Amino acid sequence: MSDVKSGFSIERRGLELRFRMVTLTAREWLAPDFVRVRLTGDDLEGFDSLGADDHMRLFFPAGPVDSVEELRASPSREYTPLAWGPDWLDVEFAVHGDEGVAAPWAASAPLGSTIGVGGPRGSAVVTGTPGSWLLVGDETAIPAIRRFAALLPAEAPARIVIETVSAGREVEIEAPVAVEWVHRGDAPAGSALISLLESLSADDVIGDDPFVFIAAEQSIVKPGRALLERWGVDTAHAVVKGYWKRGEAEYHAPH
Ligand SMILES: Cc1cc2nc3c(=O)[nH]c(=O)nc-3n(C[C@H](O)[C@H](O)[C@H](O)COP(=O)(O)OP(=O)(O)OC[C@H]3O[C@@H](n4cnc5c(N)ncnc54)[C@H](O)[C@@H]3O)c2cc1C
Repeated sequence: MSDVKSGFSIERRGLELRFRMVTLTAREWLAPDFVRVRLTGDDLEGFDSLGADDHMRLFFPAGPVDSVEELRASPSREYTPLAWGPDWLDVEFAVHGDEGVAAPWAASAPLGSTIGVGGPRGSAVVTGTPGSWLLVGDETAIPAIRRFAALLPAEAPARIVIETVSAGREVEIEAPVAVEWVHRGDAPAGSALISLLESLSADDVIGDDPFVFIAAEQSIVKPGRALLERWGVDTAHAVVKGYWKRGEAEYHAPH
């Protein structure tokens, strides 16, 4: 699909990198393995996130800290800003077990705990109007999918597909089209999405001039790119990303 005919582009924008201290003030479980938390603090004034799939770095100290330097030296993980105001920021976490730093913190840190927020510093902003949309992801991509779904014009041809373990783990998503849920059961994370992507042929393209967002466990990347090829979608009109990697802590997706 050539850029000449396309009604949109993905533009890179930069934001000044800032580091903020915030406090956990609320926690709401949306599913047994998915939690939304509210972070608050005066430092959030001016916080902004221009792109639906932006990420920021959250820093998790082991206990109370006395200085910003100490906070910055703590382990950090990448998360999507979901929603924010002058002094609050909501973040949603896939709670994947006792392993790791971020998920256990989101599940059980006491209200009042302090963490750090760095960024976001760079955004990829969908500029213009895609002719159609495909949004695909596992639990970790739900916040980005929520933000993309909010950009969808009501009449645009679109498919939103999200993988969870089971029907009992689905969460409500506001979107102009019905979300298609796929379930992995005991199979490895991503496998239900991979089967779906592999089943889509060139004829299944949702509409003209599509924007494609695919993010899940790293093994989604290969079938995701293969789908772009079958559909003739320029990689400049798509985001295909591993948001985490099985067996690897603190995975950094290539940017
Ligand atoms: C651009 C971007 C945006 C992201 N946004 C979000 C977001 O908004 N919400 C969100 O929940 N995640 C998001 N993620 C994914 C998140 O950064 C990772 O899941 C992160 O590894 C979790 O950190 P942890 O400390 O819990 O686990 P880690 O210490 O990183 O990993 C410990 C173990 O847990 C495994 N693991 C990590 N994540 C998962 C998972 N989801 N399911 C099963 N096993 C896992 C690892 O393979 C490893 O074996 C995003 C990632 C990227 C790259």
